[in-house]
Amino acid sequence: MTDAHYDSDERAERSLNFIEQIVDEDIAAGKNGGRVHTRFPPEPNGYLHIGHAKSICLNFGLADEYGGQTNLRFDDTNPVTEDTEYVDSIKNDVRWLGFEWENEFYASNYFEQIYQFAESLIQKGLAYVDDSTAEEIAAQKGTPTEPGRPSQYRDRSVDENLDLFRRMRAGDYPDGAKVLRAKVDMASPNMQLRDPIIYRIKHAHHHRTGDAWCIYPMYDFAHGQSDAIEHITHSLCTLEFEVHRPLYEWFIQKLDLFPSRQIEFARLNLTYTVMSKRKLKQLVEEKHVSGWDDPRMPTIAGIRRRGYTSASIREFCDRIGIAKRDNLIDVGLLEFCIREELNRTAPRLMAVLDEKPLKLVITNYELGREEIMQIENNPEDPSAGARDVPFSREVYIERDDFMENPPKKFFRLFPGGMVRLKGAYIIKCDEVVKDNAGEIIELRCSYIPESRSGSDTSGINVKGTIHWVSVPHAVEAEVRLYDRLFSVENPAADDPEGRPRDFKELINPNSLETVRAFVEPALVKATRSGSLTNVQFMRKGYFILDQDSTDALPVFNRTVTLKDGWAKEQKKG
Ligand code: ATP
Ligand code: MG
Repeated sequence: MTDAHYDSDERAERSLNFIEQIVDEDIAAGKNGGRVHTRFPPEPNGYLHIGHAKSICLNFGLADEYGGQTNLRFDDTNPVTEDTEYVDSIKNDVRWLGFEWENEFYASNYFEQIYQFAESLIQKGLAYVDDSTAEEIAAQKGTPTEPGRPSQYRDRSVDENLDLFRRMRAGDYPDGAKVLRAKVDMASPNMQLRDPIIYRIKHAHHHRTGDAWCIYPMYDFAHGQSDAIEHITHSLCTLEFEVHRPLYEWFIQKLDLFPSRQIEFARLNLTYTVMSKRKLKQLVEEKHVSGWDDPRMPTIAGIRRRGYTSASIREFCDRIGIAKRDNLIDVGLLEFCIREELNRTAPRLMAVLDEKPLKLVITNYELGREEIMQIENNPEDPSAGARDVPFSREVYIERDDFMENPPKKFFRLFPGGMVRLKGAYIIKCDEVVKDNAGEIIELRCSYIPESRSGSDTSGINVKGTIHWVSVPHAVEAEVRLYDRLFSVENPAADDPEGRPRDFKELINPNSLETVRAFVEPALVKATRSGSLTNVQFMRKGYFILDQDSTDALPVFNRTVTLKDGWAKEQKKG
C-alpha cells in the first residue's frame, strides 16, 4: 500500500502465517536475492468478489510486508468469456480496496512468447499434436487408480508436430480438430500429468489481441509461464491448484524458466452466498439481482454499494487469516467488521421507516411554532459535533413504537404513557384517534415544556426514548432493507441427503424489502452534498445513499442492522 513496513516488532507479537514462514525461509536461503514479487491474476470474465479481496489483501499485503512488489495480471487466455468491462471494474475494485499495483500486465501480451515455449517443448520431444476428439482423450485418460492409455498420435515425429502446430496457428483447422498436449506421463497417479492439453484451436475474437490468434494456451500453460516471464517469486493461488503444482514445476524445469514458487491457500467461502463468478453471472443474467453491483451480491462492487468501506473489508480479510484448509466463514464476521467501524464513525440521524407512520399531534404546542433542537451526531465521538433538527407540533414516529394494549415492560408509547422524543421533549399520549375501520390515524399528545433535552427540570423519569421526524420538515425517501441473498448457509453445497441442488432455488425471497421513509432534512442535504456517506438511522441500522437517488426521492441502502437480528430470527422461525 504505502511504504514497505517490514515491522519486526509487529511480526514478533503475532504468529506468522504459513506463507510468511515460507517466504522467511526463502529469504534465509538467499533465494531471489531476498526479493518478494507477487501478482494478483484475475481472469477478466466477471466482477471481483470478496473471495478475490482475500487474495488481493494477501498478495499486496505480503509484498508490502517484505518491501516487494505486486503485479496486476489479467489472465486473459479465454477469449470467449472475457471483456474489457470486466478489466475496468477489476482495476477500479483493486484501487478502491486501497492497493496500487507495480505493473499492469496481460497474459495475452505473452501469447507469442508462450507459443515459442510450446515450439521449444515440441523440439525437445515433450509435446505432440493430437487429432483425437475430446471424448477420446477423456476416455484414454484412465482413473486415479488405473493408468491412462497413450494416444495413437503420441509418437509423432518432432518435424510432423512442428508442422501441424504451425498449421494450427495459421488457421488451417476448425475448432476442436487438434490440440497440443504435453508429453509427460500417462501412468502418473496425478491425473494432471497425464499428457495435459496445453493449446487448443479457438477461432474467436479476443478483447485485446483481436483476430491475431486462433489457438490459445490453456490455463496450465499460461499461468506459470506468465509468472516466470514476470519473475514472480511467490505465486499464491487457491487450494484447487495444489494438484497442478507438479505440472507447474515440470514446465519450469523442461523450459528452463524462472523458478516461481507456487503456494496454495484456502479459498474464502462465506455463508448465505455463492462465491463463483460463474454463479454470480447467472444471478445477473437471469435477473435474480439488479446487476453485478446489486447490494446483495458478494461482489466488491455490490458490497461497496451496500455501504461497506474498504477498511472494513481489509479488516475482515485480516481477521480470517490464511488457512491451509477450505472452510466456510460466517458472514456475521463481515457484518461485525463494518458495524464496529460505523459505530465509531457514522453520524446518527433520525428516520421513520414506515409507509404509514404514526402522526403525533402535540396539542399544547402552539400551532406554527418551530424549534431547532441540537442533537449530537455520535455519542461515540464527541468531535462529531451536533446538528440542527427542527421540531414542531406534529411529528411522525414508527408505528412499532406505539401499542394500544402494551405488555409489561413495553417502554415505548401507549395510551396514558410517557416517552422522550429523542433530543426534544417528554410527551404523554392522551388520546388515540381512529378512522372508521378502526385503524389508528393519529395520537393526540401533550408535551412537558420543562423537559427539553439538555435543560430538563421536569423531574420526570421516563424509561423509553423514541426517534421522530417533524412532519412539515420530513423528507420522503425510499429505503432498501437488504437481507441475505440465500436462505441456506451454503447454497453451493449438495442437499443434506447428498443430492445436488440448484442454488437459484435457494434464493431468499425476502432478501429485499423496499419501504417508504421520512427522514430528517439534514440527512438528505448532507448526503447529497457528499459530505456524509455512511450514516446510522437511530435504532434502525447503518445506511448509505444509493446511486438510484433522484432529486425528488433519495434512496438509502441498509448496510447492516445494529445488532445481529438474523440468529434470533432463525431461532424463532
Ligand atoms: P471464480 O471461481 O469465482 O471464477 P476464479 O478462481 O476462477 O474464481 P480468478 O479470476 O481466476 O477467479 O481468480 C483470481 C485470483 O483470485 C486467483 O489467484 C484465485 O485463486 C483467487 N481467488 C478466487 N476466488 C477466491 C476465493 N474465494 N478466495 C480466495 N481467493 C480466491
Ligand atoms: Mg479462474
